[in-house]
Amino acid sequence: MRRFSANYIYCVGQPPLKNGIVEVNDSGKILNVIDTYGELQESRNLEFYNGVIVPGFVNTHCHLELSELKNVVPEKLGLPEFLNKIFQYKKQKKDNATVKSIHLYDQIMRSNGIVAVGDICNTAISIPIKQKSEINYYSFVEAIGIGENSSEIFYNNNELYRNFLKNNLKASIVPHAPYSVSIELFKLIKDHSEKNRSVISIHNQETESEREMFINKTGSLITKLISLGVNMDKWNASGESSVRTIIPYLPSHSNILFVHNTYTSEEEFDLINQNFENAYWCLCPLSNKYIENRFPNFDMFLNEPEKVTIGTDSLASNKVLSILEEMKVVSENSENVTFEQLIQWATVNGAKALKMDSEIGSITIGKTPGLNLITNFNFSKMNLTNKSEVKVLI
Ligand SMILES: [Zn+2]
Repeated sequence: MRRFSANYIYCVGQPPLKNGIVEVNDSGKILNVIDTYGELQESRNLEFYNGVIVPGFVNTHCHLELSELKNVVPEKLGLPEFLNKIFQYKKQKKDNATVKSIHLYDQIMRSNGIVAVGDICNTAISIPIKQKSEINYYSFVEAIGIGENSSEIFYNNNELYRNFLKNNLKASIVPHAPYSVSIELFKLIKDHSEKNRSVISIHNQETESEREMFINKTGSLITKLISLGVNMDKWNASGESSVRTIIPYLPSHSNILFVHNTYTSEEEFDLINQNFENAYWCLCPLSNKYIENRFPNFDMFLNEPEKVTIGTDSLASNKVLSILEEMKVVSENSENVTFEQLIQWATVNGAKALKMDSEIGSITIGKTPGLNLITNFNFSKMNLTNKSEVKVLI
């Protein structure tokens, strides 16, 4: 057994414990949480750290397959041109480099305190790495296709999905984005999710031109898709925003991660929350800054504090895969989001979204959440500083 203490322990779901003690067994299971009421009376086998102890982080949006694209795509191109660059790169990609970079960044994420990841997949390449990883993965097999061959696309997605399951990995089939998936394909995905009670993830409103595309079939997004060779002849604008358009085609009872939400209005936010009992809002602020140089309206999400999660997105649009760095950006750009709130977003909410909360997400007796130490913490403001770092304790 090991016994940990720090200036504060954030178990999540309760106020922080000043000088609390956490006891864990050799496999990292929480045996006991002791409130010392700020008075450490005894130090028997106690490992005391300066800083705050929090549960392991959950990264609800990543694309490990894009890890080799670090520093390849220039910043602030806007989403349409970013997609163009990714498309061009994928045409001439080198498989070996991908395996190596996936392996490396799996390890780097763990050393950044991440214990679970929702990872978007287009191939089976990450399977052997995920099987051996210390990180618990939920693999989102990504469906893309706007043409008439939906059943063929879905068949291939289903084969890949079954490959993940066969290798004892959690997986689901998910739509890439409202603008890249046909209604037929959406219906197949919805049906599959309802039958398998699987988690859905979808890129949502990452660019303003997504709205233009759905309102009147104009704007830089659709122009770019056409220039990439996508046949949009039979695609019709609904006359309403993308998010409103896809509501009937998403499963109403599944957990759904809406990712990015950079241009989501308050009205659309309310609409989704009313229509989906398990809608989760995944924020990837560093990626938003990298691609569009803009953040979502962070304060809006405080209206659904139980449903906000944090993701890193991929190294194609981020310099690091670190939940702590994402938390710092939110903290620096919103005075209203407290550290206590951010920790909930970075841990238990993500664990719930990925259906892993019986094991991880909070420092609770019986769970094995992992323990992170955050150093260089501002104790007078009870918040992060730009020098805060994370160290994995277990
Ligand atoms: Zn993404």
